[in-house]
Amino acid sequence: MAAMEEVSNKQIVLKDYVTGYPKESDMEIRTRNLKLEVPQGSNAVLVKNLYLSCDPYMRACMTKPHDDTYFDSFTPGSPIAGYGVAKVVDSDNPNFKKGDLVWGITGWEEYSIITSTQLGLFKIEHTDVPLSYYTGLLGMPGMTAYVGFYDVCSPKKGDTVYVSAASGAVGQLVGQLAKLFGCYVVGSAGSKQKVDLLKNKFGFDEAFNYKEEQDLDATLKRYFPNGIDIYFENVGGKMLDAVLPTMNLHGRIAVCGMISQYNLEKHEGIHNLFCLISKRIRMEGFIVVDSYHLYPKYLEIILPCIKEGKVTYVEDVAVGLESAPAALVGLFSGHNVGKQLVAISHDE
Ligand code: NAP
Repeated sequence: MAAMEEVSNKQIVLKDYVTGYPKESDMEIRTRNLKLEVPQGSNAVLVKNLYLSCDPYMRACMTKPHDDTYFDSFTPGSPIAGYGVAKVVDSDNPNFKKGDLVWGITGWEEYSIITSTQLGLFKIEHTDVPLSYYTGLLGMPGMTAYVGFYDVCSPKKGDTVYVSAASGAVGQLVGQLAKLFGCYVVGSAGSKQKVDLLKNKFGFDEAFNYKEEQDLDATLKRYFPNGIDIYFENVGGKMLDAVLPTMNLHGRIAVCGMISQYNLEKHEGIHNLFCLISKRIRMEGFIVVDSYHLYPKYLEIILPCIKEGKVTYVEDVAVGLESAPAALVGLFSGHNVGKQLVAISHDE
């Protein structure tokens, strides 16, 4: 590639801040010219994006900045930012060189300039696994499952574990880690296809389609006649309220996410919080970025599990940058089966 080559760079841009459910039309595609070179002294890295990750937290970034969020909002008119896998094309940063493969925060565009202030890039050292896994199993969602299950849930062998949104990027791994640990695991998901995956591919002991259940309290009591020791919370709202009375004494609830609330202007109230006292439950929220220092340790554990076939991972791959808005929006109606990602270039 000649120095100073200029390319037309396709980008996905947020048009304006979003209220309610996001729509494909909240985003648009445009092109901008880009010189394939980083300025000297900038400390920046220029990357070609290969895979982009669609993650529920991105909905919060589509909201006008407000006090009660821990994410920076996207800037309307600028490319959407999100996790991705990319190849370094040019670098003015001593930690990265041309040809390196990386994962971390990049732009929803073909090429991105990642400046030093944003550098949260991880160099990819292991390429004998699918590269796309670095958007999921070997990236942020995988780390979330690992930290959430081992650190926040404090599991014990034989514990009963309930995982909601169980077939998704995080949930499918939580269930498999819990099974490997010797727990009894039940998952819920929103379709028959997903329930089949939970039972037949990921090895959950039981699974149910929460959309078909009229009385969630009764459903949970049916699947957990002896109560729930650990709830890995991905959805919030009515599900959390239904789980609380079925929790066991000294149960743990890892509050990973509450996707059922992300598009509501006002979050639903929870009625059964008194159970936290009567049952001495520890309910703890966490954010994976606080634990990225554990990533090397996670790789040491998870890579052998993948190679030995002890852990499997299902991905839902949309093809082409143009398909990214629909893929992202689809998370909020359960359109994705497994980890949702977008493949935008095969130039690995
Ligand atoms: P995912 O499960 O791959 O995709 C989202 C899934 O959520 C959908 O497929 C859908 O599955 C379910 N869903 C959507 N709307 C719902 C609703 N109203 N009620 C119930 N379920 C609904 O997503 P993920 O990346 O694994 O994320 C799972 C959760 O973890 C999210 O809450 C996310 O925000 C959170 N998270 C937290 C951290 C952290 O650091 N704390 C990091 C990553 C992710 P169904 O078909 O089953 O409904």
